[in-house]
Amino acid sequence: MARRKQIYEGKAKVLFEGPEPGTLVQYFKDDATAFNNKKKGTITGKGVLNNRISEHLMLRLHDIGIPTHFVRRLNMREQLIREVEIIPIEVVVRNIAAGSISQRLGIPEGTALPRSIVEYYYKKDELNDPMVSEEHITAFGWAATPEIDDILNMSLRINDFLIGLFLGIGIRLVDFKLEFGRLYDNEEVRIVLADEISPDNCRLWDASTNEKMDKDRFRRDLGKIEEAYQEVARRLGILPEGGQADYKGPKTIQ
Ligand code: UDP
Repeated sequence: MARRKQIYEGKAKVLFEGPEPGTLVQYFKDDATAFNNKKKGTITGKGVLNNRISEHLMLRLHDIGIPTHFVRRLNMREQLIREVEIIPIEVVVRNIAAGSISQRLGIPEGTALPRSIVEYYYKKDELNDPMVSEEHITAFGWAATPEIDDILNMSLRINDFLIGLFLGIGIRLVDFKLEFGRLYDNEEVRIVLADEISPDNCRLWDASTNEKMDKDRFRRDLGKIEEAYQEVARRLGILPEGGQADYKGPKTIQ
């Protein structure tokens, strides 16, 4: 089999050249990092679960009209995506205080925020991904004003939709990180959702016990990391319990 050309290797994923021009293959690794690479580890089976969880969420978002880079899942660890020009901004949407907002502003973790808060971070490992404002983004040309408007509107819509989707399976969506890219389609350029949506970049708390079901279990050495990711997949109805034929669909929590 011909070796595919590797385009990029990130902390949790590898991108390979795709089968057709304008496509890439996104490979999900089991590697986990935190605190800007200072903590490293492996979460066995994470890549397989994140591939499926992200596929599921991207498809549901596509169903409500959010354009995404996702084309289709290829196998256990790979998905076919459209090649986009990544906008160097991480968009964080928060519903409940946790992590950096709790530390920076002294808001106790678990406090419901008065409204959803959107923050932007400049993607630059050497600088520790500093928080930036829309002013910085447009002044330095990382995104144009209409692009950042699209990004903000899409992020809030994604948040509203995902809050409901997760609450339906007994999970509180505390916060999450999104990335967007420019898709060049003939003469047209469109902003589309890129990267992944998975327990690696969302904070997900069990709605009844507040137990953490996301990467904070790794960041904070809470144990049972694999089990938490599996439970998210199981509740989404995408973890085949008795093989592929056993697909049950989402499990509604009363
Ligand atoms: N996040 C991420 N990648 C980053 C930084 C944050 O996916 O480089 C996610 C993180 O998992 C959480 C949300 O964005 O769901 C908010 O993270 P926060 O700013 O609280 O930073 P952290 O506490 O993770 O350092």
